[in-house]
Amino acid sequence: MRHIAVIGSGPAGYYTAEAAQKKWGGDVRVDVFDSLPVPYGLIRTGVAPDHQSIKAVSRRYEKTAFTDHVRFVGNVTIGSDVSITELQSLYDAVVLATGAPHDRTLSIEGADLAGVHGSAQFVGWYNGHPQFAGLDPDLSSETAVVIGMGNVALDIARILAKTTAEFEGSDIVLHALDALESSAICRIVILGRRGPHQIMMTPKELGELMHLERAAPRVDADDLPDGEEDALLEPGLRKSVAHLRSFAAIPESERADKTIEIEFDFFASPKAIIGEEGRVSGIEVERTKVEAGRAVGTGETYTIPCGIVLTAIGYRTAPIEGVPFDERAGRFANDEGRIMPGLYAVGWAKRGPSGTIGTNKPDGFGIVDLIEEDIASGALGNGGKKGREGFDALAAERGLDIVTFQDWKRIEDAENAAAREGSPREKFVDIDAMIAARGAD
Ligand SMILES: Cc1cc2nc3c(=O)[nH]c(=O)nc-3n(C[C@H](O)[C@H](O)[C@H](O)COP(=O)(O)OP(=O)(O)OC[C@H]3O[C@@H](n4cnc5c(N)ncnc54)[C@H](O)[C@@H]3O)c2cc1C
Repeated sequence: MRHIAVIGSGPAGYYTAEAAQKKWGGDVRVDVFDSLPVPYGLIRTGVAPDHQSIKAVSRRYEKTAFTDHVRFVGNVTIGSDVSITELQSLYDAVVLATGAPHDRTLSIEGADLAGVHGSAQFVGWYNGHPQFAGLDPDLSSETAVVIGMGNVALDIARILAKTTAEFEGSDIVLHALDALESSAICRIVILGRRGPHQIMMTPKELGELMHLERAAPRVDADDLPDGEEDALLEPGLRKSVAHLRSFAAIPESERADKTIEIEFDFFASPKAIIGEEGRVSGIEVERTKVEAGRAVGTGETYTIPCGIVLTAIGYRTAPIEGVPFDERAGRFANDEGRIMPGLYAVGWAKRGPSGTIGTNKPDGFGIVDLIEEDIASGALGNGGKKGREGFDALAAERGLDIVTFQDWKRIEDAENAAAREGSPREKFVDIDAMIAARGAD
């Protein structure tokens, strides 16, 4: 029997569990741990609430969760409730699928002012992550600045721009919907240090900006490179740039009935966040030019007055005691997923915060192949580990309140039952409420 502990129930965790189940069937026991009482990681707390079809991938993970020898162990944080060393003594292999939940920090003056939020916080707020549900961002100013040129920046801009009616069918949490309804923001500036050819935004997400009820995107035509240069881009980026060109071509007459503008400010490097009485009141920006793919400051600066700054500049994995960490890359130190025989990383905890949900699938399947190799070479010892039986004894001794997959299904039923009209669910946004809901048969 092989005993595997997977830490994290996001895509990487569940693809790993699926791969182990497919490889070893009844000869494996997989425990999928999560600090939250609810599964699926960023599928629940990251992917935008108005992108429900993407969130539907969780049905595949549910199939794995319901297979005979995989179990969900929610409400247990590895590193504080139970240590990595303890897990290593109980399981043949421990796979870290803990993602990258911390915002990369913006290292400029004023980044700690009130009104500056990282995307993990802001996205977590509108998606009901218990850690960020209480963020209460100040949306009372006219201008919001979003820093970053990837899809997360686009998600944030789109969410800020939508009307309540446009959230129909989404599972945006009620506190966010209410706050957005009374938001005063009418200008959303997306700042990027480099130019249109260096964006990491995908065509589908950019295309959505053309169909917003009250908002229109704006790109300065002077920022766009010569059209012929687009031919050198890879096809996805070429399509994205085509969207930027169409944004630049929107006639003023078509903007007349729009009350919100989403403005792309390229070649713009944030220099300092300006504050008044401890709160953000503006951002100082330096104009850049791109040389050999890098942004180089020109010395020309300007200020954008704004009341909120949202950074979408990447994420870092949270270190866990006893696990080697690559500080520079912000993830666990690993070689193709192997940290050491018996300890592995997958998904964002392995690669860093890039790629789509699907990118985590080959990671999960690859790591199970690696575990098989390590078993075959004898690197994992002779077996005989206690696995889940040993964990259950430890959990009982420590008084851990484990949330099972069946508990999660009851929590999910309660969320579905509480859904407002037109919404699939009303999420619980605090851990106590989640745990209380599992009791409701
Ligand atoms: C804002 C945002 C929007 C996105 N939108 C899309 C999209 O539209 N389409 C798309 O394809 N991709 C999207 N992605 C990317 C996608 O979400 C990631 O590729 C994917 O979630 C990474 O999977 P993961 O399993 O590595 O990490 P995660 O999904 O982050 O899962 C990690 C899990 O580990 C748990 N955990 C962490 N530490 C511990 C611990 N110490 N003990 C126990 N449990 C722990 C966490 O609670 C979490 O459940 C988006 C990402 C973000 C941030």
